[in-house]
Amino acid sequence: MLNISGLLKEYDLKVTPQRVAIVEELYSNGHMNIDEIYKKLTQRFPSVSLATIYKNINSMVERVFLSEVKIPNAKSVYELIKTEHAHLVCKNCGFIEDIMLDSSDIVEQVSKLAPFKVDSTNIVLSGICKKCINC
Ligand SMILES: [Zn+2]
Ligand SMILES: [Zn+2]
Repeated sequence: MLNISGLLKEYDLKVTPQRVAIVEELYSNGHMNIDEIYKKLTQRFPSVSLATIYKNINSMVERVFLSEVKIPNAKSVYELIKTEHAHLVCKNCGFIEDIMLDSSDIVEQVSKLAPFKVDSTNIVLSGICKKCINC
């Protein structure tokens, strides 16, 4: 199991029960949007407010402990920082999958097409997931 308090400290984040719970939920569920996190957290901390959760998440995003994945036409989801990857988003069921796509080819093509220095990428591809194709 993950040593969450240790990790939070490493990122200079104060360890609070709510923060630990948010990280636990993201660790076991993968990508979650703010509503899903809020729903899970209220099961454990009935008095926690949405604003508190937002504040906690934002401070963890600022410290680059969590990353925010912007999804077109849907709410952003959050995940623990991992090695660079792209996201596949199912238009039908909303399922989000990580794919270890190497963006260096894309970045190289950009450098040939435009005088622009890419320093971050956010690749989200939408389509239909395996489960939805089969039904
Ligand atoms: Zn699907
Ligand atoms: Zn991801």
